[in-house]
Amino acid sequence: MHELSLVHSIIKLASQHTKANNATKVDQIELEIGTLAGVEMDAFLFAWNASIPGTILENAKRIIHKVQAKARCKSCGTEFDIQELYDVCPQCANYVHHIFRGKELKLKTLVVS
Ligand SMILES: [Zn+2]
Repeated sequence: MHELSLVHSIIKLASQHTKANNATKVDQIELEIGTLAGVEMDAFLFAWNASIPGTILENAKRIIHKVQAKARCKSCGTEFDIQELYDVCPQCANYVHHIFRGKELKLKTLVVS
């Protein structure tokens, strides 16, 4: 499951940050997940709940921001909210575009103590 490896890399990243700051636990973790990041939310939360106990993130408050994906049309330059990878431009109906936001999963902030 793709979501499980995502959660594992988040735990790894969080542990590295916590150690680097001479802290012992994470109080809060804030994530940004793009609507086109390919993350299935239910699967992600399931993987999270299954993996977190016993790790540095066990008692951390989890905040998840969904980031609406945005694309720029390569034909007319219009920027628009994109729901599916092959949506067409609302201005000129071209489907060649560049998705510049919403394909990423980012660790935004980490509060450690
Ligand atoms: Zn266009």
